[in-house]
Amino acid sequence: PELAALVAGGAVDVLDFPKPGIVFKDLMPFFGDGPRFRQVVDGIVTHYGAGSFDVVAGVEARGFLIAAAIAYATGVGVVPVRKAGKLPRPGFSASYALEYGEATLEVSEDAFVAGQRVLVVDDVLATGGTAAATMDLVERAGGVLTGFTVLMELGFLNGRERLSPRKVHALLTV
Ligand code: IMP
Repeated sequence: PELAALVAGGAVDVLDFPKPGIVFKDLMPFFGDGPRFRQVVDGIVTHYGAGSFDVVAGVEARGFLIAAAIAYATGVGVVPVRKAGKLPRPGFSASYALEYGEATLEVSEDAFVAGQRVLVVDDVLATGGTAAATMDLVERAGGVLTGFTVLMELGFLNGRERLSPRKVHALLTV
């Protein structure tokens, strides 16, 4: 509950972004606030327990910020799950439907050692399409999912149900 308040206090509602009718949750003030960011990162580490994962995967781009902080705090490595066309070497790719069109995420073929336990992180869970594609990629690349965590879950979009039976850990649900 205290962690939820730390996330909530760093979020700003932006009306009609990126399209009319959408209320975008902007977490940049959260990331820009050192004590807030540190306490929440520490809270995520405590939730899973240092030693329960071997590597952290973050979704481009805000997931990178959280993943790198958790990785540094626990002494493990960090793997970026990238938007299409950014990786310099061959990778696995997963596409998913957006309201209009399609998005593709990619991870390097050799990103994980087979059986490595992977914690996946992102900033916001909305419909769950991004998270589903990411977890699919991690498993195809040989990783074993330890968990999926987000700072904020938009509960009314039912992403959690879409990801079931995989578990979602959200610090704040709105
Ligand atoms: P989903 O695939 O619909 O669950 O959307 C989640 C992805 O889009 C995540 O990578 C988020 O960073 C981004 N996203 C969707 N809605 C928001 C929002 O309101 N604020 C910040 N990021 C969002």
